[in-house]
Amino acid sequence: MEDIIRLLPEAVANQIAAGEVVQRPASAVKELLENAVDAGGKNIQLVVKDAGRTLIQVIDDGKGMSFNDARLCFERHATSKIRSAEDLFSIHTKGFRGEALASIAAIAHVELKTKRAEDETGTVVLIEGGEVKEQSPTTTANGTSISVCNLFFNVPARRNFLKSDNTEFGCIEEEFIRVALIHPDIAFTLYHNGKLTYQLKEGNFKQRIIGIFGSHFNDRIFPIEQETNYIKITGFLGKPESAKKKRAEQYMFINHRFIKNSSLHFAIESAYEQVLPDGTHPLYFLSIELDPATVDVNVSPTKVDIKLQDDRVVYGFLFAAVKKAIGEFSLIPQLDFDYDTDLDLNNVPQNGPIRVPQVSLSPGYNPFNSFSNPRSTYQQPSHHSTSANPDWDSFLKGIKETEVTVAQPEEQKVMQFEDSAQDMLAEVTSYIVVQKRYLFVSLQDKMHVIDIVRANERIIYENYLQALKDQPVTVQQSLFPETVVLSGARAELLTEIRGDLLKLGYDIEPMGGGNFAVNGTPHDEEAGDMQTMVENLLDEYQSHLISHRAERDKNLALSLAHQKKAVMKPLSNLQEVNHFLQQLFACLLPSITPSGKKVFEVVDVEKMF
Ligand code: ADP
Ligand code: MG
Repeated sequence: MEDIIRLLPEAVANQIAAGEVVQRPASAVKELLENAVDAGGKNIQLVVKDAGRTLIQVIDDGKGMSFNDARLCFERHATSKIRSAEDLFSIHTKGFRGEALASIAAIAHVELKTKRAEDETGTVVLIEGGEVKEQSPTTTANGTSISVCNLFFNVPARRNFLKSDNTEFGCIEEEFIRVALIHPDIAFTLYHNGKLTYQLKEGNFKQRIIGIFGSHFNDRIFPIEQETNYIKITGFLGKPESAKKKRAEQYMFINHRFIKNSSLHFAIESAYEQVLPDGTHPLYFLSIELDPATVDVNVSPTKVDIKLQDDRVVYGFLFAAVKKAIGEFSLIPQLDFDYDTDLDLNNVPQNGPIRVPQVSLSPGYNPFNSFSNPRSTYQQPSHHSTSANPDWDSFLKGIKETEVTVAQPEEQKVMQFEDSAQDMLAEVTSYIVVQKRYLFVSLQDKMHVIDIVRANERIIYENYLQALKDQPVTVQQSLFPETVVLSGARAELLTEIRGDLLKLGYDIEPMGGGNFAVNGTPHDEEAGDMQTMVENLLDEYQSHLISHRAERDKNLALSLAHQKKAVMKPLSNLQEVNHFLQQLFACLLPSITPSGKKVFEVVDVEKMF
């Protein structure tokens, strides 16, 4: 029989590659802008017509190309940026795969004009669907101008797949912002359909953020700056009041490359946990610099995903650095960095235990002061001089070689506040409950508004901690045990923590095959939907494990209290209210939930009039 395998012609191979690299006009914009940056341009112009359908042009004043290079650059795997496989581990440029121009040229009409400063004349190359139509000398300015016309002219499927002009231009704008943000030393302009849309002058990172997003961002952000010999983190974070429900401006760059990484994103959001309302997201503009050898950028053709050699270490540092920056701006309790171990960050272990930064709370922090008016402390300048002059040594003091982290308020540290809490314990004689959730009572002649659900979370959290330590909850055995069915990972986790769950009143027995029998529940609790409860509990427990957020006992107490906080009989008379207040103020830290949210607010009624 005849052999049937054939090598694809170059033009077809390029078109296939284009499918990966150029999904829409914005992808071409990204590649061209990155080339202009790599070429050392100091002024870069992007001109777009019809959301990139008819024209995408990028003009730079960078180093330009020789006559031969002007043609070679359209060959597949033609790059000036790496020469050997080893170079892949020391990439300082945006490009290196040498496929962008070949891909773009395969599916568009391209005109390249380029000139090096040292050459008398420049070069023009015309190329259509991968075929060179013309190459000749020409007069042109130093640098490079590439025009990409009629994108996807020979790939109707792609062209038809494009969304509205608004959507496509939105994507272009986003790519433009991602490149422009992290290169504030380069001036950028963007014209769309003849209209000047952005004009960004050379400046610093903050000026660039404001140039792009508007001058109101000036008040919305504060700086973060931390550096070791392993990692450098700089940029700006959003103040809590600028947090958004959705579509917050969140930009993270590693080695000046925009990246998306859910684990690092989570590190930032976790660091904010104590200061943001539920369901809101912080703004951030973060530049992380690492040894390129520890970052693999060659994971996907668009290079937005990256692989870190040790993402847990980067995670830990990012979490701690963000937490510290927030602390320095007096947004949350001052952080206290006791020197514990010296960390040799050049020697991050490849195997074995990974050291994770720990941030602990300052013993001098009084929740009763700051939570009575959190905003008033907010604008105060930092007490630490470290924000202007980063002092990494003191930062490292907070880093311990344990798997424990979290700025969980430590019980012994807050003992000193017990007095003030106890003082509040006089019985109340009247109360109001609003929206079934907010309890208004007068304590010490001051009107307190207490979030009942959050207060309950604090109360049961402390009860659970006690139960885990030495006072197990009584189990009420069920006559007809409910069955819970779990997938592999969840089943494993449940088996691991069922001993602790028993102390909390849940008698759960593995039956094999991911089935568990719930033989008993806490004596004072009505059995609810166990399947959902257990799944949510395990997921939350697991997410805390991943983010190193709490030691074992606290993690379980925290996760279960979170599940159970809303399970409570409504307060229906004075006696119940007083009992509830007594329980709350008997807590070691009544003013915040275990995850740091405000439990009550003191209302200064006089001030209101
Ligand atoms: P890569 O950027 O991965 O090297 P590209 O296909 O994007 O691959 O570009 C191929 C080569 O063309 C680059 O390595 C560079 O040498 C050259 N080049 C592309 N754009 C420019 C530019 N604007 N100025 C100077 N040289 C450029
Ligand atoms: Mg490139």
